[in-house]
Amino acid sequence: MSFNATVASAAHESASQLYANVDFASLSWLEQLWMQWYIRIDNPIIATGLMSFLLHEIVYFGRSIPWIIIDAIPYFRKWKLQPNKIPTPQEQWECTKQVLFSHFTIELPAIWLFHPLAESLGMQTYQVPFPSWQTMLPQILFFFAFEDMFHYFAHQALHTSILYKHIHKLHHKYSAPFGLAAEYAHPAEVFILGTGTLAGPILYCLFTQNLHILTVYVWIVLRLFQAIDAHSGYDFPWSLQHILPFWSGAEHHDFHHMAFTNNYSTSFRWCDRIFGTDDKYRAYRKKIDAQKAAMKGKSKAERAIAEQQLLAEIEAEGQRAEAEVEARAEGKIKAQ
Ligand SMILES: [Zn+2]
Ligand SMILES: [Zn+2]
Repeated sequence: MSFNATVASAAHESASQLYANVDFASLSWLEQLWMQWYIRIDNPIIATGLMSFLLHEIVYFGRSIPWIIIDAIPYFRKWKLQPNKIPTPQEQWECTKQVLFSHFTIELPAIWLFHPLAESLGMQTYQVPFPSWQTMLPQILFFFAFEDMFHYFAHQALHTSILYKHIHKLHHKYSAPFGLAAEYAHPAEVFILGTGTLAGPILYCLFTQNLHILTVYVWIVLRLFQAIDAHSGYDFPWSLQHILPFWSGAEHHDFHHMAFTNNYSTSFRWCDRIFGTDDKYRAYRKKIDAQKAAMKGKSKAERAIAEQQLLAEIEAEGQRAEAEVEARAEGKIKAQ
């Protein structure tokens, strides 16, 4: 029986039959758990869909909780990129409701549909043993690079007048984002930008027929960490961008929310550097460094006031740029 035929009939077959030729004792602890999950649920399509959705919810909210705690502890303010803007519990709750709405209306069906589509292209799901890390690593690096480029262009498109006004404006509600706000977006945006996350694995499957869903899960977990941390609003001395200078991190994306422009990519700084969409960001970094040097020896309060002024200037510029984009959308609507 061909692989696809196996998958198609899997739902009607007892799950334990799928593992008829597997030597249980030779499997790792995680592989045994994996196998038991499929045997217990006894329907590979439901087992895969449920595992994927649960993984997404647990990682999304699990990764957001430490940031909620950090926001509640004043000690961490010294590393906050916009220290005057701490999200209130009310804002966090409003954000959680919108995120959950998107998860159940867009992400749940998309996650559920992704698997039959990827399986029909040759992706493995219930199969054990898992691929080796040497197989998984280059695949995950490809997904990172693909998503970063896709996001860079799609995100810029979302900043054009009509798309901004009707879709992306919601994500820009917070000029100082926080972890939970990573997926705070219009359902259409979740769908458009989610395509960048899932199209990499789909294309990879299409061309190689060599991909296990575990690799996709590792990619999704890393991508969620990347997105939530980039929205955290904190730049610690131990943040990844200080170890890998090409990594975007919070310091890069926080500027996008504050200034409304520049820094459109997700994981890496390369696209913005190559296409010159980080000019304002780099000028701002220079200003910060110059200000720090000029304020040496001044009191903490004086330094805070100067920093505050600079942040307020950038934000006011961002608000003007946003109003311009929206006015253009109004003009286009009236012209039609
Ligand atoms: Zn944006
Ligand atoms: Zn954002």
